[in-house]
Formats: sequence, structure tokens, C-alpha cells
Amino acid sequence: MLSIYNTLTKRKEEFRPINPPFVNMYVCGPTVYDYFHIGNARSFIMADVIRRYLELKGYRVKYVMNLTDVDDKIIKKSIQENKEAKVVSENYIDAFFEDIKKLKIKQADIYPKATEHMEDIVKLIEELEEKHFAYNVGGNVFYDVSKFKDYGKLSGKKIDELESGSRIEINEEKNNPLDFSLWKKAKPGEPSWNSPWGEGRPGWHIECSAMSCKHLGKTFDIHAGGNDLIFPHHENEIAQSEAANGKKFVNYWIHFGFLNINDEKMSKSLGNFFTARDILKKYSAEAIRMSFIQTHYAGPLNFSEELLSSSGKGLEKLKNLASKISEGSVINKEGGITPAFEFKRYEDNFTSAMDDDFNSPQAAAVIFDFVRDVNKTIAENNNISNEFFLQVKGFLEKTAVGVLGILDFSEEKTSSSGELENSLIDFLINLRIEAKKEKNFLLSDKIRDGLKELGITLQDSKDKTSYKKIST
Ligand code: AMP
Ligand code: ZN
Repeated sequence: MLSIYNTLTKRKEEFRPINPPFVNMYVCGPTVYDYFHIGNARSFIMADVIRRYLELKGYRVKYVMNLTDVDDKIIKKSIQENKEAKVVSENYIDAFFEDIKKLKIKQADIYPKATEHMEDIVKLIEELEEKHFAYNVGGNVFYDVSKFKDYGKLSGKKIDELESGSRIEINEEKNNPLDFSLWKKAKPGEPSWNSPWGEGRPGWHIECSAMSCKHLGKTFDIHAGGNDLIFPHHENEIAQSEAANGKKFVNYWIHFGFLNINDEKMSKSLGNFFTARDILKKYSAEAIRMSFIQTHYAGPLNFSEELLSSSGKGLEKLKNLASKISEGSVINKEGGITPAFEFKRYEDNFTSAMDDDFNSPQAAAVIFDFVRDVNKTIAENNNISNEFFLQVKGFLEKTAVGVLGILDFSEEKTSSSGELENSLIDFLINLRIEAKKEKNFLLSDKIRDGLKELGITLQDSKDKTSYKKIST
């Protein structure tokens, strides 16, 4: 049974999708004004791990991640670079796709863009206006927080406490400092769209409400994002969607803990700001993913160069086993023994770790126990069958490759010399057979002895020759 910590109820709950085996999941994506940073990467990768695990469990996940392509930050950048806002956002959308591919993040089913959903956004604001949850002040439309009685239910904040807080922007046009923008009146030179309230552009929160409901329905299963978004972004999404639709918006809210660098908040001014592309220049996707996976998704993560390099080193054992398997699949084409090994126990342990609110550190520990025990079995047995290696590979494909994304067999093959080595051995064996046929026993013995010196022993049976490598 899968249980998920739900920010809304503040407890772990059994996961029950609305319409199994389908699961509808929405993750707040990037604001495309720059390359995404390693903190964003943590949220994207952990969301990817959750999605992949749900798929392993047999759920058919419809995964939607929005691209915020209308925003103050994009406008600011477009002024700085003297480019159209659209040119800026398109450039960083391309970069986003390049980077997630390199990080081996599975593509979402849909990447809705705010600029392509203006009609839906305007319609939603109109509905809120009709239901008296919104008011227009000369072309600026605000959400009236006092009208939504459940305001604060996600973040646990109380309206009166919030009102006395000093961090809320004061705006003379608002009835209440907590009210937030649904539609912003156009300023000269800014991108704008036509609307019943005049030229303008939408607020950030309404974009997510409109796009998530459009693609996933008025009530859907999972909504995720970094925990910086709980308030006000997600609180406001709930207020907008539930007020307009009269229905519960989301069943399970998942929030990713923040990533800090050497115990400090990452920021450009502190000089500790790293984009995912910077880190990818030096470290593999697997090492980056491993450095995240070792911490539970909800907790804070202290990121550092040491963490990355120790994660990379930690993966060596797994990669070595993967190379052995690539070789093993051709060692004993037929025959050999299949040692007793409780594959099911490791599978069950992996599942129970991930079923417990996606406990990826525990799941990774199961994989490393598995690697250790497989290596022990290999060391203790001679002439292991291909069947055994296939089962080892099957387990790793499902878990380390399929869910956590910390191993890639296709790379193991190209990076290891195993395949070439095996082809060369096959070539020499065939050469020896020909030499024997021609009664050139001097040459055939030379080949056998030469291979033996290299740790490869040949075994002749009635109609074929197989070989065994002494593992180093
Ligand atoms: P943004 O582009 O800032 O809107 O963020 C995109 C996603 O990354 C959101 O889900 C954020 O909550 C998340 N995020 C931003 N900064 C961090 C961080 N330092 N650690 C973890 N997640 C973050
Ligand atoms: Zn959002």
C-alpha cells in the first residue's frame, strides 16, 4: 500500500487515485527567464522519481508541468537584453528541454504555456467575478481573499495573522493586503492580451489553476512543487479553483524540501548560484540524481561539491556490477548454474521503502545491499548461468534504472570495454577451431595458453568451446 504525506492534511495517507489505474499529476514548472538552477533540478528530479515509481506500480500517469512564460522576471530580462519577451522565454524553454534530457528526466505528457491558455485564464477570472470572488479596479482584477472561508487551509496560516505580517505588498487598490492579482493592467512596452477588463496579462497563480484544471479536470490526484510554493502560490491556486468550480481542487499535495548550498540559501548575490547545466559539465546525471535521492524528498538538502563527488563514487559499485552483467550475458550462452538468490526479498524491500512516502534513501540502500550480495554470490560460485545475470539485470532495470535513474545500462556497455573484449575472445576461439581443423596444434595450443595467461580458460565440449573469465 502506497502512502503519501499530504501537505493539506499534514499526515501520511493511503494513496487512492480518483479513477485508477489513471493518476493525474501536476507539477509547477520553471519560470523561463534563465537556465534552471540546481534547486529547481531537485524538485524536477524528485517529481520524476515519484512519477516513475507510480508507473512501476502500474498506474497510468498523466503528467503535466507548466511553463510560466508570462512573468515579471521575463519582462525584466527582455528589457535588460533588449529582446522581445517571447524570444527570451522561447530561448529558455529550449534550454529547459536540453537540460532535463541530460538529467534523464522523463518528459511530461503536456507542457502547457500560459501564453497559449489566455482564453482559459480569462474565462476562469470571469467565473470568479460572477461569483463575487474577484473585483476590478480600473483594469486590475484582484481575488477577494475574505470571501473564501477556507483560505489558509494548505499552509495552515490564519488570515488575521497574515494580515499583521509585514511581508505582504501594500497596494492601495486592494481591499485587503492579502488579496492578489488575477489580471494586471498592461503597462507600456509589456506583452499584453485583450480581456473584458482591457489589455493586460494574468497573475501567476491563476495560470496554474486554469492550466491544471483544463488538462487534468476540476479535481485531480496529485499537485507538487517546491515548498516555497505552499504559500502563497498553492494556497491561492486552491482559493481560485475551489471558488470557481465549487469542488475540491487536489487530493494530494506533495512538497519538495529546499536545496541549500553549504548551509546557505543559494543566491546570485552570494556567489553560490549553480545552474543544472554548470553542474552537468562536471558530473553525470546519475551522480546528480544520486546526490538528491539519498535525502528524502521532503527534507532540506544541503548540496555541495563533496556530496556530488561522494555520490559519484558511491555509484561505482553499481556501475561495476552493470559492466559485469554486460559481460556475463555472453559468458555462458548455455548451461551454468543458477545460484539461489532471493530476488523477491530485494524487490519487496524496494517496494516497501518507496511505498512509505517515496523513501528514496531507503530504496537506494536496498539497491546497494543487492549489489553487495550479488557480488558475493558471483565470488562464491563458478560457472554462473546467464539466467542469473538476466535476473540481476531485471531487478536493476526496474529499480536503479527505471525508478531512481541512477544507472544506465546503455552507457555501461559503451563505456566498458566488455563487448569488444568478448568479441575478440570469440574471434580467437574461432581461429583456434580452424587451426585444429587444419591440424595446426601448435597454433591452437598457443591460442589456448595465451588466453589462459590473460585469465580466460577455454572449455572444450563435444561440439563447442565455451570460456570462463576469472573476474578481477
Ligand atoms: P521557479 O522557476 O522559481 O518558479 O521554480 C520552479 C520549481 O522549482 C518550483 O517547483 C519551485 O518550488 C522549485 N524550487 C525553486 N527553488 C528551489 C530550491 N532551492 N530547492 C528546491 N526546489 C526549488
Ligand atoms: Zn504553479
